Amino acid sequence: MSRARPPGIGMTSQRTRDRLMQWLREAGISDERVLAAMAAVPRHALIDEALAHRAYENVALPIGHGQTISQPLTVALMTQTLLDVPRPRVLEVGTGSGYQTAVLACMRPAVRRVFTIERIAMLSERAEARLAALRIAGPRFRHGDGYGGWPEEGPFDGILVTAAPPEVPEALLAQLKTGGRLVVPVGDDELQELRVIDRTDQGFITHTVEQVRFVPLLKGKR
Ligand code: SAH
Repeated sequence: MSRARPPGIGMTSQRTRDRLMQWLREAGISDERVLAAMAAVPRHALIDEALAHRAYENVALPIGHGQTISQPLTVALMTQTLLDVPRPRVLEVGTGSGYQTAVLACMRPAVRRVFTIERIAMLSERAEARLAALRIAGPRFRHGDGYGGWPEEGPFDGILVTAAPPEVPEALLAQLKTGGRLVVPVGDDELQELRVIDRTDQGFITHTVEQVRFVPLLKGKR
């Protein structure tokens, strides 16, 4: 007697997903709201089917157009870092697969609103369609160059940049509220440092968290 396997069972089984969650805890992710959102988002549904069996490994994977979906630990860390700001309205620069966008969207009400901008039209459209199919509602998508931020919707309480510029973009600093936080990897193609920049009454305060590797933040849209 043979029975058809339900879709999503196998390499993307609940056990595989649980293993990643356990690993994220051991790696220092302690905010239960972040862990719940990470557990809720089906990462395998945001990448090509041919790679879906690797969706719950802590690796960046190709998503086409020379871009990658971020590592789960990086997404969890950046999200956890942002949550020191209460109930932020967030701008994400670099929608890519929509994975980080989905994690932020699943954090309501701890995250109030999500705006995401992507320079490659096809990636922006695909991420928007996939999140809609997953019934993850709320984020606003825009095709544009994130170097300029999203002035019509700013200022923001939180800004997450998921690609690396050589310097912190001025427009993003300008669109950060007092009391807000910008999380951005800064550096060249080889090496970047993740910076956490808080805007206070006295000005900007920068902390460097760790070495990271992101794809470059490129100018212009296509
Ligand atoms: N947050 C994404 C990470 C994708 S990689 C995820 O979870 O999958 C970074 C993305 O930034 C790529 O899709 C790339 O096209 C985009 N990007 C690069 N430069 C950009 C810019 N100037 N403005 C907006 N998006 C940009």
